[in-house]
Amino acid sequence: MPAPKPDDTTAHEALLAFDRAHVWHPYSSALSPQDPYVVESADGVRLRVRDRDGTPREVVDAMSSWWCALHGYRVPELDAAARAQLGRMSHVMFGGLTHEPAVGLARRLVDLAPDGLEHVFLADSGSVSVEVAMKMALQWHLAAGRPRTRFLTVRGGYHGDTLNPMSVTDPVGGMHALFRGILPEHVFAPRPPSGLDPDGAALAAWERETRALFAAHAHEVAGVIVEPVLQGAGGMHVWAPAALTVLHDLAREHGALVIHDEIATGFHRTGPLWAGQRVDTPPDILTVGKALTGGYLTLAAVLCTREVAEGVSRGAAGGLMHGPTFMGNPLACAVASANLDLLASRDTPAEVARIEAGLREGLSAAAELASVTEVRTLGAVGVIELREPVRVAEVTAAAVARGVWVRPFRNLVYTMPPYVTDDADLATITSALVEAVASAHG
Ligand SMILES: *Cc1c(COP(=O)(O)O)cnc(C)c1O
Repeated sequence: MPAPKPDDTTAHEALLAFDRAHVWHPYSSALSPQDPYVVESADGVRLRVRDRDGTPREVVDAMSSWWCALHGYRVPELDAAARAQLGRMSHVMFGGLTHEPAVGLARRLVDLAPDGLEHVFLADSGSVSVEVAMKMALQWHLAAGRPRTRFLTVRGGYHGDTLNPMSVTDPVGGMHALFRGILPEHVFAPRPPSGLDPDGAALAAWERETRALFAAHAHEVAGVIVEPVLQGAGGMHVWAPAALTVLHDLAREHGALVIHDEIATGFHRTGPLWAGQRVDTPPDILTVGKALTGGYLTLAAVLCTREVAEGVSRGAAGGLMHGPTFMGNPLACAVASANLDLLASRDTPAEVARIEAGLREGLSAAAELASVTEVRTLGAVGVIELREPVRVAEVTAAAVARGVWVRPFRNLVYTMPPYVTDDADLATITSALVEAVASAHG
């Protein structure tokens, strides 16, 4: 690429200066702001960024932009869907009105969802969909004359950043101590043992403890909420379908609903369409988000069974008490439908299996590094776990220098690449991650 022109450099510096002085980034400090890269455009699996000094670079996106951009960027089918919808209407209110984009998307979601999930609430972000799922469970119990007010979950989870999703997120990772007295206090079972097929004794011990805890709180537990089989932002922890089955059984035994939060895991990220497909029973409520629009626009959805929907509606309130301004946004719904059609038109399970094999092979060298405790892969997710917190700026810079965009957190350097990442780009991602960890941590 050509060297930047002087006015480019000035504009680049001015942009960064205003950003530092005025713009919040995720989990950021206004006193010591992070040093972001400026991204100018993106195409396929590549982002065009500028270094701190303005040098343009192309980097392969190992993050799918926080797990959303399944087909990469500027996807012709999704661009066309957005353009076509812009020519009709980008937004109208959903109170008293309906439209084909929302109904078409709901039809697709009901079709794809586990059996029995027939009612769709279209929300505007993942956290809001978790709020709605929790309200559904609370209203369902209220309507039946059982005012249960708590949720049971496992440690290590992540369900979003608004207050209720935070309250069922891991107490440490979810900063419960910081917000003591404000967050509702829910019931936390231990984190289930690691791996799809953990040691039987560890699983039995976990089950004993969880059974006792559930029994002690059964009268007040409205629902169980978990990320099936893979905890995402809570620590990229893989856990056993057998433990999920235990939670389903306990919920049924004690009259609680089961909520699967598949905002991170849905749409094949762990291999199957839904991570929760690995257990025999479907959830009562399902949340989806992140990859729903292929990373184009913010949109999420909550699906529930007829029993839950009708139960909620029999209550004194006469319906589900939620209705965001941008509910069912037509532009987002149209792109989401195009995204789901595109996923279905490809052999997505085979694409994910290919990526899983490439990640397993390419990341295996990291297991030899002194700084690394474990390397794990599940579907299109590859994780390098370190002994110590990641030196984020150093690892990121080392990966960018090797042509890869990565955003580590805590002690984890991980990738969730777009499903369309070809074998050569996948090899670029895995070698950059291994080398970046080696150069920053040894
Ligand atoms: C990202 C995420 C959320 C929150 O979604 P936002 O769109 O960021 O509000 C909730 N649950 C899970 C499992 C997630 O990964």
